[in-house]
Amino acid sequence: MKGFDVAVIGSGPSGIQAAIHSSRKKASTVLLGKPSGSAMSGTHVENYFGIPGKADGDGLLRTGIAQAVSFGAVHIPESVTSLSVTPEGFRAVLEGGGEVTARAVILATGVSRVKLGIPGEKEFFGKGVSYCAVCDCSFYKGLKVAVIGGEAEAASSAEMMTRYASEVFWVSDDIRAADYAVGKAEAAGVRIIRLKPVSIGGGERVDSLNLSDGSSLRVDGVFIELGARSAAELAMDVDLMPEVDDTIAVDGSCATTVPGVFACGDITGRPWQVARAVGQGAQAGLSAADYAKGTAQ
Ligand SMILES: Cc1cc2nc3c(=O)[nH]c(=O)nc-3n(C[C@H](O)[C@H](O)[C@H](O)COP(=O)(O)OP(=O)(O)OC[C@H]3O[C@@H](n4cnc5c(N)ncnc54)[C@H](O)[C@@H]3O)c2cc1C
Repeated sequence: MKGFDVAVIGSGPSGIQAAIHSSRKKASTVLLGKPSGSAMSGTHVENYFGIPGKADGDGLLRTGIAQAVSFGAVHIPESVTSLSVTPEGFRAVLEGGGEVTARAVILATGVSRVKLGIPGEKEFFGKGVSYCAVCDCSFYKGLKVAVIGGEAEAASSAEMMTRYASEVFWVSDDIRAADYAVGKAEAAGVRIIRLKPVSIGGGERVDSLNLSDGSSLRVDGVFIELGARSAAELAMDVDLMPEVDDTIAVDGSCATTVPGVFACGDITGRPWQVARAVGQGAQAGLSAADYAKGTAQ
């Protein structure tokens, strides 16, 4: 069993940045988790300060981990299967059967977007299917898109897409968003289609969304906006109860209500963006290092 000052659980942008700041504060730091599990893996980022064009998500993750390691962090690309409180701090059990202990823990496990589960969704992911209108809106300037989902986030994504796309369909057979959100989308020009989406069609890229009445919409993009589930289970292992929306509440120092447990990135709430994840990661890394070394104010 290896002992560290700080264990960061999650190797996405927030966890990597936390490990960079923690190790640069001279706290011995272990970074746990697989970068391939990050929301950023397999995607491009084009709205991050200082990086023009489309930055390769996997490349950023690889470079970030190498940076953290160069500052002294140890990276173990394994998932944590359980977390427990010990007299000295915390113990994390890894999928390979190993264990690490640490005085402070940072939860940076992100969220996983809820999938629709229809044919074409997986095949066309990244080729017209997106789970993030805020991230990918600018790729659809002047094109036709469908936004799927019945809640407020689908309403606001559809409304936002009217500023980019030439035509926006909001597709759901179960619209539960508040009346004012529906009205706002309609006023912006969104066409509401109260039918169930059954499959996504296309060749190289998406070209249609097929509906439950047998009709088909000609679209260039399909945004699936069904929300997300956080990977917050580990929090409950240390008696930290997630909020009703499954997020982990933190204060300005990224501390949770459990002493020694910090959280950062998508797991703490919206917007699900790299810039926010990285900012919180820096704060969580500094706070956890201070906590572990007994230098917290
Ligand atoms: C398709 C798509 C496009 C996007 N485009 C953009 C964009 O253009 N601009 C932008 O700013 N944002 C974009 N985002 C959002 C951005 O990727 C996320 O906001 C960001 O990755 C969140 O970082 P995070 O570190 O909080 O979580 P994540 O990046 O999701 O990382 C979570 C990490 O935790 C690990 N993990 C989970 N459970 C465990 C466990 N039990 N043990 C160990 N490790 C665990 C995962 O393997 C992963 O390494 C996009 C997201 C998607 C899905």
